[in-house]
Amino acid sequence: KAVVHWFRTDLRVDDNTGLSLAGKLGKPLIGLYIVSPQDWEAHIVSPARVDFILRSLEMLKQDLERLEIPLWVEVAQNRNDIPRRAVELCHQWGANHLFANMEYEVDELRRDAKVVQLARTKGMEVQVVHDTCVVPPGELVTKAGKQSTGKAFAVYKPWYKAFLARVAEKPSLLKQHPPPPANPLSTRTHFAPLFTCLIPAAPENKSLTPSETTTVHTLFPAGSHTALSLLDTFIAQRSRAYATDRNLPAKPGTSMLSPHFSAGTISARTAICRARSANAEKLSGGQQGLDTWISEVAWRDFYKHVLAAFPYICMNKPFKPALASISWIHGAEATTRFTAWTSGHTGYPLIDASMRHLQAEKFMPNRLRMVVASFLCKDLHLDWRRGEQYFSSQLIDGDFASNNGGWGFASSTGVDPQPYFRVFNPTLQGEKWDPDGEYVRRWVPELKDVDAKQIHNPSAEVRKRTGYPPQIVQHDVARKRVVEMYKEGIERGK
Ligand code: FAD
Repeated sequence: KAVVHWFRTDLRVDDNTGLSLAGKLGKPLIGLYIVSPQDWEAHIVSPARVDFILRSLEMLKQDLERLEIPLWVEVAQNRNDIPRRAVELCHQWGANHLFANMEYEVDELRRDAKVVQLARTKGMEVQVVHDTCVVPPGELVTKAGKQSTGKAFAVYKPWYKAFLARVAEKPSLLKQHPPPPANPLSTRTHFAPLFTCLIPAAPENKSLTPSETTTVHTLFPAGSHTALSLLDTFIAQRSRAYATDRNLPAKPGTSMLSPHFSAGTISARTAICRARSANAEKLSGGQQGLDTWISEVAWRDFYKHVLAAFPYICMNKPFKPALASISWIHGAEATTRFTAWTSGHTGYPLIDASMRHLQAEKFMPNRLRMVVASFLCKDLHLDWRRGEQYFSSQLIDGDFASNNGGWGFASSTGVDPQPYFRVFNPTLQGEKWDPDGEYVRRWVPELKDVDAKQIHNPSAEVRKRTGYPPQIVQHDVARKRVVEMYKEGIERGK
């Protein structure tokens, strides 16, 4: 009898909980990955992310082959067939045990429930285990009151305090899982056809153009070995200045590990453990840069905990039901504004630079994600879900929980949000975080000769001369109006 590990968002051999447990059974181990073009379509997975996943699969296949473990990549044209196909394959391979790491989104939980049901009819055991978060979702709850039990957290700071306390009390949460042992050599003969499986190409509607491919491959090498070396380089070279540099878009101040966390080519445990080793074995109370970085990695856990506790956010609903009734603008004006935003022609230099950066490199620094997200809903008065979907369609690191969490924060409809009346001023944000205008000049070539003094607020004359567009809305007017819109929405929602 064999055992199968079904890879999903965990494309690595090291520190992979499900794979490690599967390896401990002492049976021949087979790796499975199911490509679902319909899932990619339904979940608006970007071509850059699809490409990153396929490249990482190629590397994973090589790593597994060194252990004599085959990786079978199945393409399921109909996503509803996935559970049946997974169970069928296991049956065909004579496997009576299937392992996988849990994904917490609603579609994925439903899929796994079906797998368990079907597997039972074949006498097969399925184990879907926690892996992607350091602390499994559901384990941290607020303090119980006299008459109430603890509840899921919806604010980061107390959650992080509870997170640190839990890790201190249960150090095994950060224990890394060993890779599975190598299969006996006979596996290669026994499962010979499985070793010949090729990684498919991206479906046409999820393919990058040749020039996008070059850019993305240069900027974001895939696979778990790259992830580990990025992590080590970041810790050695950039972590000290991280607390300040992370907000400066002209500087490469962050780890750029997000595509890896999204695809699971590195685990949060490994990342936090290595950062802790460089931080005098502390998660907090050590060096400022590393403390901050560890707490940022924990934001990813936080948003997954939120998703698991409040699954309705997977269904296009805001976390705060009271903010479901805001009258966002629709129609032709909305289309014009949305196009200006996506293409980087709003007349606000920092917004336009960020959006053009996203389009060109399929990535945007965190500070700018907050600023452009706030601009979409609070200045352009467009539904934040349009922005959330657009980000997902572009980002190489698209991750439902973090993306939804980030949009919920910026639009004040999510957990731990900005208060709705706090609206980023896109000009002041530019002056603060890109004081010399270096980032704007990099992405908005029309403004490359404009001096630092007016780069974030070019005069009408400069705009005319350079062809840079006028401001699509007046920030002060838009800000006042949006506060009214939120108030009206809250009234309506009562
Ligand atoms: P670093 O600063 O080096 O941080 C290390 C890791 O910590 C990141 O790779 C990421 O996994 C995690 N992290 C850091 N900041 C956050 C955060 N605010 N929320 C959650 N996790 C965080 N991140 C995604 O991975 N996928 C998304 O789809 C996504 N969409 C976002 C949308 C909006 C509107 C906002 C405001 C943020 C979004 N983020 C998303 C979070 C954050 O912007 C990126 O994780 C970060 O910019 C990635 O760069 P890095 O790897 O260099 O980060």
